[in-house]
Amino acid sequence: QYYLDQIAKNTHLNAFLEVYTDEALDRAKSLDEQRAQSGISGKLHGVVIGLKDVISYKNHSLTASSKILEGYESVYDATAVAHLLQEGAIIIGRQNCDEFAMGSSNENSAYGNVLNAKDNSRVPGGSSGGSAVAVQAGLCMVSLGSDTGGSVRQPADFCGIIGFKPSYGRVSRYGLIAYASSFDQIGIFGNTVSDVAKVLEVIAGEDDFDSTVSNEAVPSFESFKANKDRKYKIAYFDQALQASVLDGEIKDNILQTIDSLKESGHEVEAIDFDFLDYVVPTYYVLTTAEASSNLSRFDGVKYGHRTAIPNLDLDTFYKKSRSEGFGAEVKNRIMLGSFVLSSGYFDAYFTKAQKVRRILSEKTKAIFEKYDAIILPTVTAPAFKFGEKSTNPLEMYLSDIYTVFANLVGIPAISLPLYTHSNGMPFGLQVLTPAMQDTLLLQLSDSIM
Ligand code: GLN
Repeated sequence: QYYLDQIAKNTHLNAFLEVYTDEALDRAKSLDEQRAQSGISGKLHGVVIGLKDVISYKNHSLTASSKILEGYESVYDATAVAHLLQEGAIIIGRQNCDEFAMGSSNENSAYGNVLNAKDNSRVPGGSSGGSAVAVQAGLCMVSLGSDTGGSVRQPADFCGIIGFKPSYGRVSRYGLIAYASSFDQIGIFGNTVSDVAKVLEVIAGEDDFDSTVSNEAVPSFESFKANKDRKYKIAYFDQALQASVLDGEIKDNILQTIDSLKESGHEVEAIDFDFLDYVVPTYYVLTTAEASSNLSRFDGVKYGHRTAIPNLDLDTFYKKSRSEGFGAEVKNRIMLGSFVLSSGYFDAYFTKAQKVRRILSEKTKAIFEKYDAIILPTVTAPAFKFGEKSTNPLEMYLSDIYTVFANLVGIPAISLPLYTHSNGMPFGLQVLTPAMQDTLLLQLSDSIM
């Protein structure tokens, strides 16, 4: 009831597209009854969680914040959601986001902007903006979002909370609407590292419904709490902190953190990484290619919106339904993806980008032979004002420079809310560890926080 009241008081933020009022209260009651009877409670008993509108929850609407899925209801639970429910969580509602998780500001939702609770004239970040603001404003305890190139870490940074993207394959993608399947991961927003670790323990692990999920055992929450006094070997990219796009205050604050990490006994070293200029182009070639293929299923026949114009031939019917249903940014990306996959340009763009991705992975592996972790900024600058970048998509894409790296190479990454800018907005520090070293990442994060 407390969270429902908070949601009701904050509808102007537009964080939730739907609130499961009666259902959440009923579930809270029945969870307590079950516990009274059996004496047993789940690991997330009574934890109030919101879901980004790209994660399936059976018999509930699911639209990816797109008109094309208006009226569609999930016919099954995402594996992550099934795990949450098994452990006693209460799902409180469906959260606004950029259409099909494409964007960095939540200005691409078909259902309106989400406002940053700290300053309503500024964006909350994207694409999981509603999920970030819901935790920022205390409308739920934890949210699940999705992170293909930063969509959990960047809005967490803009909102002053923790945003965690697990390793690729740590959490099943079954029931997550696909944007770019080889990049997508379900991620977690929370207020403490410990909350995030608890939720990860529940949602991670093997799944017969996702062939890309790892069958490596999931470390327990207890193991996260071990190792408190460990000293780490940490690298940072000189080029990342020297980049001209980086806000000066962000740079200074991170350099101070580096000093204090050294004072606490960690080894922190600057290393050369010449590949940062390639990450954004590589990311946008590969993700748009995958998106153009993934989104071909929305054809007006199988799901959601279909054109009302009668007597069309099949091709025109597809074109009309898709043109009416998809928003501008999604159309841009489908066209870009179709272009880089087209026979004349496949080798020049798609194959080339795959090769760059491979090189990035190899370089990253080599770094982790010497270091436990990498630190980076999460963003180039704190939350910007609405409209500031929406007319310049390239500038918007380039601001993803620090987050897309983790998805390109499949490693876990987290944004920790450590700083406040002189303009009053929060921002964070990004920490990354080797693939499947999610527990190590959370332990290190806990010692930094
Ligand atoms: N901002 C990035 C994009 O627009 C990241 C999106 C995401 O992680 N879903 O593609």
